[in-house]
Amino acid sequence: MTALVITALVHLSFSMRGDRARGWPVKTKVTLVSAAAMAAQLIDGKAVAKVLEAEVAAEIARLGIRPGLVAVRVGNDPASEIYVRNKAKKARELGLEGTELVFPETMTESALLAEVARLNADDAVDGILVQLPLPKQIDPKKVIDAIDPAKDVDGFHPANVGLLHLGRPALVPCTPSGVMRLIDSTGVAIEGKRAVVIGRSDIVGKPVAALLLARNATVTICHSRTRDLAAVAREAEILVAAIGRARFVTAEMIRPCAVVIDVGINRIDGKLCGDVDFQAAKETAGWITPVPGGVGPMTIAVLMSNTVRAAARRRT
Ligand code: NDP
Repeated sequence: MTALVITALVHLSFSMRGDRARGWPVKTKVTLVSAAAMAAQLIDGKAVAKVLEAEVAAEIARLGIRPGLVAVRVGNDPASEIYVRNKAKKARELGLEGTELVFPETMTESALLAEVARLNADDAVDGILVQLPLPKQIDPKKVIDAIDPAKDVDGFHPANVGLLHLGRPALVPCTPSGVMRLIDSTGVAIEGKRAVVIGRSDIVGKPVAALLLARNATVTICHSRTRDLAAVAREAEILVAAIGRARFVTAEMIRPCAVVIDVGINRIDGKLCGDVDFQAAKETAGWITPVPGGVGPMTIAVLMSNTVRAAARRRT
């Protein structure tokens, strides 16, 4: 009971649950929190992705166009095969023209660059994505740099990365955009919050941090050289884990009531799990994404949204 009362006070002082979303006045909330079992609310990525997909389909109908997305795969990486097929399939489901281009593992860098140039010049193509990783004879940076920034629906081109960090309109990487949408789905206001992102990759950590900063969070980025990472993480009212290490984030690293977004995809004994120790963390967090079913479903939905955006910009 003492623990519950203390926890209730902590809730009150942080005052960061989605009061607006729940419609609870703070005083009522204290009573309810102290009586509850303190389990976090699940952030349902599948449901949030469905809403975004419906928006994409409605926008396509409104614009009266059929945006073209081309997903390029080189080689036979089994994970890439599934990702690319699913992307092209989802595109067709939502009313886009989804095409999958598959090239052999032996493709040369110059042949792939020529293919990208051809897609850049094709007016029916609004979005180009080249699935990574690429075979070792191809430099992914050269390929990304060759994509027309207006068709760079993965948001990896240096022009789009620069625009994002300048806080100007850009095609934003899909997983980070999805993370923001999941945070927004909780009703927790981002402005003024202490946000900690664990991971500083170009495709997840850095863009997530830039997006949180653009929304006026106070952002800290942690990485493999961060000292006392647990103490930094515990300050986070919004915690994003993008590390690639199974169950790295333990309950002790989570501030009570924090919004916890788990980007990680790891496998233990053939089962998928995230970077957060979900079972333990859900007792402390206020909101948490599961793995699978959290960030994962958002990535493809945002890709579709980016393609429609790219098409609208080019064609209207
Ligand atoms: P990277 O390997 O590119 O980056 C991992 C980051 O985590 C690095 O910045 C690294 O630090 C940091 N890190 C690694 N070990 C530690 C540690 N012990 N302590 C602190 N920081 C550490 O991975 P990605 O960003 O590409 O992906 C992260 C995870 O997200 C993966 O599991 C990936 O599968 C998943 N993912 C999921 C997606 C989805 O759609 N759900 C999409 C993309 C990725 P440093 O820079 O110092 O090395």
